[in-house]
Amino acid sequence: MLQRPVQSPRSHDVLLVGGGLANGLIALELRRRRPELRIGLLDPDVEPEPHTWCLFATDASPAAWQSLAPLLDQVWEGYDVAFPGHRRELTTAYGRLTSGALLAAVREALGPGLLRRRARLVSPEEVVCEDGDTYAAPLILDGRGASPSPHVDIRFQKFLGLELQLKRIHGLRRPIVMDATVRQTDGYRFVYALPLAADRVLVEDTRYSDAETFDRLQLESEMLRYARGAGWSVGEVVRRERGALPVVLSGDVEAYWDEPGRHVPQVGMRGLFFHPVTGYSFPDALQVAALVADNAHLGSRELARRLRERSIALWRQRSFYRLLNRMLFLAASPEDRYRVLERFYRLPQPLIERFYAGRTTFGDKARVLAGKPPVPVGRAFRAAVTKRASVHA
Ligand SMILES: Cc1cc2nc3c(=O)[nH]c(=O)nc-3n(C[C@H](O)[C@H](O)[C@H](O)COP(=O)(O)OP(=O)(O)OC[C@H]3O[C@@H](n4cnc5c(N)ncnc54)[C@H](O)[C@@H]3O)c2cc1C
Repeated sequence: MLQRPVQSPRSHDVLLVGGGLANGLIALELRRRRPELRIGLLDPDVEPEPHTWCLFATDASPAAWQSLAPLLDQVWEGYDVAFPGHRRELTTAYGRLTSGALLAAVREALGPGLLRRRARLVSPEEVVCEDGDTYAAPLILDGRGASPSPHVDIRFQKFLGLELQLKRIHGLRRPIVMDATVRQTDGYRFVYALPLAADRVLVEDTRYSDAETFDRLQLESEMLRYARGAGWSVGEVVRRERGALPVVLSGDVEAYWDEPGRHVPQVGMRGLFFHPVTGYSFPDALQVAALVADNAHLGSRELARRLRERSIALWRQRSFYRLLNRMLFLAASPEDRYRVLERFYRLPQPLIERFYAGRTTFGDKARVLAGKPPVPVGRAFRAAVTKRASVHA
C-alpha cells in the first residue's frame, strides 16, 4: 500500500513525472548508476491495466539488451511475417516487457519514492500536484506520454488486441509480427500475434489508417474470426488492449520544442523519442535513460536543452522514415498500402533490423527506394515533396 507523503520541498534530487515506459527505464538506470540519488516518481496510476512493450534485440545496444534481459518476460528467437505473395521467417530475437514487471522493478528500486500523485503543474524546479502538494528537485523529467501538437502532422497505427485463453495448445512457435494476408480495409491492415504461453495468445488487429477511431465490436469479432481461422479454440478473452500510435508525416520540430512547457526536460513520446514509422518508443527510451544517467548532475534547464538537441538531431536523421510514411499514406491507395510493406520484407534481414532500430544507412535507403515502386510513380513523387504549409518535413 502506498503511503501519502508529507509535502516536503527539495526532498528529492530527481523527480520523474509519469511512471510509464520512459521514466520507468530512467528510474532503473539512475538507481543502477547513481544509487546515491533520492528519486521520486509521481503517477496517479501506479498500477495501470496490464500491457506489454516489445522490442527487437537489434533495437538495443548489446549492453542495453543484456541489462534488460532479466526484466523481459519472454524472448523469442525470431518472428514471422506473411503477405499475399510472400511469407518469411526472420531470426531477429524479439522480447516482451510487461507493465507488471517494469512496475515491480521500479517499486523495488524506488521504494517510498514511488508516489501515487497526479501532477497539475510541472516546472523545471517543482511539481504541483492536483491535491495541492508540491515537490521540488533540481532535476525534473516530464514523461507524461504523448502530447498532441499542431506542429507535427501525424496519421495513426491503431490497434485493438485480445488476449485469448485457448482451450488447447495453439502450436504458434514465434510471434507473427505482420500477417497482412487478412482483408485490406481502413488502410494497411495486418494481424499481430504473440504466443504468450502454450495455450494463450495475444492477437491484435492493426491498421495504418488516416483516422484514429475504430469500431471496437467489429474488430473484436474480426480477431475472434482470425483465431478460429488459425485453428485456435478460444476459451475466454482475458484482456483487451487498444492504442493509436503516431505515424509522423512531417512537422516543424523546432516549433514543437518552442511550445510552452517544453523547457522542462521531455522524455518518451512527449520528447518525440519514437520511431516515425512504427510509433515504437522502447529503443529510444533505452538511449534516453542512458543519456539522463550520464547527465543527472545537470539541472532541469540544462538537461532540457540537451534532450531538445538530441530529439532535433534524431528528427533530422529520420527524415527518410517520414518520406516513407508520406508515400504510404499519400501515394498508395489504402487497399494497396500492403504492397509497400510486402516489398520491404523481401529485403535483407540486417537492413530490416537497422530500419526498426532507426539506424538505416544511406545504402539501405537506396535499396528501399530502388526498382519499380509499389505505388504509382507520379503520386509517389508528389507525396515525397508534399509538406504542409510552413512545415518542414
Ligand atoms: C497499447 C500500446 C502498446 C504499445 N506497444 C509498444 C511496443 O510493443 N513497443 C514499443 O516500443 N512501443 C509500444 N507502444 C508505443 C510506446 O512505446 C508506448 O506508448 C510507451 O508507453 C510510451 O512511453 P512514455 O513513457 O512516453 O508514456 P507512457 O508509457 O504512456 O507513460 C506516461 C505515464 O504518465 C502518467 N501520467 C499522465 N498524466 C500524468 C500526470 N498529470 N501526472 C503524473 N503522471 C501522469 C500516465 O499514468 C502514464 O503512466 C505501445 C503503445 C500502446 C498504447
